Amino acid sequence: MTTPDPIPFLDLKAQQARIAPELRRRLDAVLAHCQFVLGPEVAELEAALAGFCGAAHCVAVSSGTDALQIALMAEGIGPGDAVFLPAFTYTATAEVPLVLGATPVFVDVDPRTFQIDPAHLAQRIAAVRAAGRLRPRVLIGVDLFGQPADWPALAAIARREDLVTVDDLAQSFGCSLHGRMLGAAADATATSFFPSKPLGAYGDGGALFTESADRAALFRSLRTHGEGTTRYEVLRTGMNGRLDTLQAAVLLAKLAVFPEELAARERVAQVYDRHLGNLLEIPARVADSTSAWAIYSVLLPDAATRAHVQESLRAAGVPSAIYYPRPLHRQPAYRDAHDGTALPVSESISERILALPIHPDLSEHALSRICAAVQEALGR
Ligand SMILES: *Cc1c(COP(=O)(O)O)cnc(C)c1O
Repeated sequence: MTTPDPIPFLDLKAQQARIAPELRRRLDAVLAHCQFVLGPEVAELEAALAGFCGAAHCVAVSSGTDALQIALMAEGIGPGDAVFLPAFTYTATAEVPLVLGATPVFVDVDPRTFQIDPAHLAQRIAAVRAAGRLRPRVLIGVDLFGQPADWPALAAIARREDLVTVDDLAQSFGCSLHGRMLGAAADATATSFFPSKPLGAYGDGGALFTESADRAALFRSLRTHGEGTTRYEVLRTGMNGRLDTLQAAVLLAKLAVFPEELAARERVAQVYDRHLGNLLEIPARVADSTSAWAIYSVLLPDAATRAHVQESLRAAGVPSAIYYPRPLHRQPAYRDAHDGTALPVSESISERILALPIHPDLSEHALSRICAAVQEALGR
């Protein structure tokens, strides 16, 4: 028996073919003016992104990780500070507080939407206050897999507890909650343009959003070595955190088709919902929201079934991926920072979760093959 043609997990070549003329025009403009760092496309992109998500200010930076770091540096976060974040997320969310000498405090997630659990957050803040070793300072809420976290609940807790809110929107730029796009839900919002994110560059990139002109000015200073009003005045310790002009040009070309791509991702998700909803646990929709569908993850009953399904899909030429096989408090690098609190939902999900391909160029034919392969793997 021959193996069927493999379906790509992500198809950036198909997307490139769709946007080729605009991409070429944008890149040629940069090659003509040669302002490769903070050229005019960067400011154009910042205005376009802020307009797109309804934020007052946008500062383009070198990656999603650097965006998070700049957001925390702007608050002076360091040793002795507690930064609350979900245990079930990408590594960068926990890495940034640790790099600055602060302590990540891991919070469990909702078993159906996979988003940070506000009730558990409140418990964790109370426990940190009771222990008295760390100062609760920041909440990093993550919008996981394309869906928004429960920002009204998170913001209410943060207000009560006097925490600064940082929205890690790396996976979910373009999602909305209660009719508003995310970008202004927290004191600072960080997103990523890593190539596989819904809005991806051709290399690393990221952006910060804020409603505060003072914070925006601080972000701009921090991304260029803490510079003041003149180039060689250094006001604070910053970093080299700028977005390349070439990446801004790529992102401008992609932003032009981003709304239709979000709609195409939603159509893929609906096909999966319809065809797989009676076979396994499909991702629960956050109420009154739209998703950017960075990742479509299903839950299987246990680790053994997941391994079987993944192997069976592989044989059928259908790729799948596991985000994330280990919650962050179980990572060797972060274990010692964890206070030992049980995080049972994050642990259970990491053993059972499986992501199926989702992108705007997934053909009807590929989609049918994927659904059939999942049905076959589960013996239906
Ligand atoms: C991708 C990602 C980041 C980091 O973004 P980079 O641009 O890769 O640095 C941070 N947080 C989450 C949740 C992510 O998925």
